[in-house]
Amino acid sequence: MTVKKFLLIFMILPALPGCQVENKNIRTASDSITAEGLKTQISVIASDDFQGRFPATAGETKTINYLAGQFKNMGLEPANNGSYFQEVPLVKITPEGDMSLRVTGGKSNLDLKYADDFMGNTPQTSDTVKIDNSEIVFVGYGIIAPEYNWNDYAGLDVKGKTVLMLVNDPGYATGDTTLFTGKAMTYYGRWTYKYEEAARQGAAAVIIIHETDAAGYPWGVVRNSFSGPQFYLEENEFTGSVLKFKAWVTTEAARMIFGSAGMDYDQTIQTAAKRGFVPSDMHLKASVYFRNKAEHVKSNNVAAVWPGKDRKDEYIIYTAHWDHFGIRYVAEGDSIFNGAVDNATGVAAMLEIANAFTRLPKKQDRSILFLSVTCEEQGLLGSEYYAKHPLFPLNRTVGVINMDALNIFGRTKDMTITGLGYSQLDNYVEQVLKKYGRYARPDPEPEKGGYFRSDHFSFARAGVPSLNLSGGVENIEHGREWALAQKNAWTMQHYHKPSDNYDPDHWDFPGMIADIRIYFEVGYDLSVSTEFPDWNPGIPHKALRDKMMEAGR
Ligand SMILES: [Zn+2]
Repeated sequence: MTVKKFLLIFMILPALPGCQVENKNIRTASDSITAEGLKTQISVIASDDFQGRFPATAGETKTINYLAGQFKNMGLEPANNGSYFQEVPLVKITPEGDMSLRVTGGKSNLDLKYADDFMGNTPQTSDTVKIDNSEIVFVGYGIIAPEYNWNDYAGLDVKGKTVLMLVNDPGYATGDTTLFTGKAMTYYGRWTYKYEEAARQGAAAVIIIHETDAAGYPWGVVRNSFSGPQFYLEENEFTGSVLKFKAWVTTEAARMIFGSAGMDYDQTIQTAAKRGFVPSDMHLKASVYFRNKAEHVKSNNVAAVWPGKDRKDEYIIYTAHWDHFGIRYVAEGDSIFNGAVDNATGVAAMLEIANAFTRLPKKQDRSILFLSVTCEEQGLLGSEYYAKHPLFPLNRTVGVINMDALNIFGRTKDMTITGLGYSQLDNYVEQVLKKYGRYARPDPEPEKGGYFRSDHFSFARAGVPSLNLSGGVENIEHGREWALAQKNAWTMQHYHKPSDNYDPDHWDFPGMIADIRIYFEVGYDLSVSTEFPDWNPGIPHKALRDKMMEAGR
């Protein structure tokens, strides 16, 4: 043993008792997170009484009042000038009456069938939506990505036209790792990007071709998510654009459209995924008509603070969206979208974690903000609004931990960090997991674009290091294949459907509790640290973070 090593050990020794006390404190608080507590919360939040928790309905009022009441009972402070609510101003746009989409000019005229062949809506607030004989152009993936040297709109003027495109990106389609990020979906693969880009290009209509594998979910999810009202922030990316129609068609409908144009569908989409793809005028016209209703409404984020002791102006944020799809017409049986997994589990976990913080014998240094956001299912709007109108400065916001749809299939060796390797927040997760003999893994299905599909992404886009930590797949009892099969079966059968019900007989609670304790401890470790974990070099969000931290100095 060198002298240096000896000294090092000697210096560490006196710190041990303090560390043990801290471990005991964490343990005491962590033990307050129980299956009973979780069951009680989920059974309330996912109950029919909450009517599927749709924004700006009676279901919202019940939900947010319940959450505010829970926070108040635990002794948490209202985060917004004496209120537990942050109002989110929205436009609610509802297509009314029959929607028609007609494709003419080809071999045969096509009257596509709403819900079976296509879904659509408008970001515009006009009373009617009318598009007459707009030229249809197939633009491949509809992507302009300078960093990947890709431009599907090169040399094209699509003003007033209808752009038809594929979901996901060329890297996914080919599996070619030199195209985009290979199988892993980039933001360019998400439908949200495709609509935004088409609006920037001045298109009148966008039609995305749905494919179950490429989208990551079946047609039923598109049908459910795009029927009924759609929400936008008052100020949104389509404000001032001429985009009138955002639509999806099934693969079968796309084949009919290509057939009418005399084009080979399979061959064309293969070409679209290769370098050198040239967009093609299909010599077809699209006509769209429907009546439309726009209302200005308000929804709410729920925000409660458990203040810190020494550095109370620095914040750790836990996010979990409270909203789901409400009550909708469904052909048979259940019409309430209870969203039990998605996301009564995340909200219940948040309440359990808040309670655990209040059980700490000694207050943590930094403040904890519990932020249950609205309109996640409408395009991450509540979290986007918060990131644009933060209640506490973003450069004092240390990190965000998002919880969306917990693991109901039992204990796992691993937990998933969607976007593993993006930020130093990973280290905190890895350290805590290691304590329990567990480990962090990257998203097992990055092709589904999970990184862009929950509220942590709103914060990442704004530059704030954020973490989407979710259940693992290395099931301790049944192994990985079994767990993945369960997960996929659940997605096909219940994701965004009325059957996402609370099912205490079949859900595994010990697994969920183990994960929630990890969420708690990661937040706790961040709350007693003096560090501001950063994005890793090369991650696009880093530049924004550097800028805001510089400004805060
Ligand atoms: Zn969700």
